[in-house]
Amino acid sequence: MTCREFADFILDYLSGELSTESRAAFESHLSVCINCRRYLTSYQETVTLGKRAFEDDDATVPSEVPEELVKAILAARPR
Ligand SMILES: [Zn+2]
Repeated sequence: MTCREFADFILDYLSGELSTESRAAFESHLSVCINCRRYLTSYQETVTLGKRAFEDDDATVPSEVPEELVKAILAARPR
């Protein structure tokens, strides 16, 4: 798995939608790639912040959150 594929799989990984095979590939990449470990950590933090923002109408997403991540979170909201 490449770092790019890893990034593509993050949403499915966090929502538990990866197949056993993809999950194994994802986790083995995670164990060898420090960059993706950091990315996953910051992604999870952003998702947590995002969820909090959606639960509270007055809360604002911190300005340091990358716009791309905010869009990914918005796209992942239940319809
Ligand atoms: Zn990587």
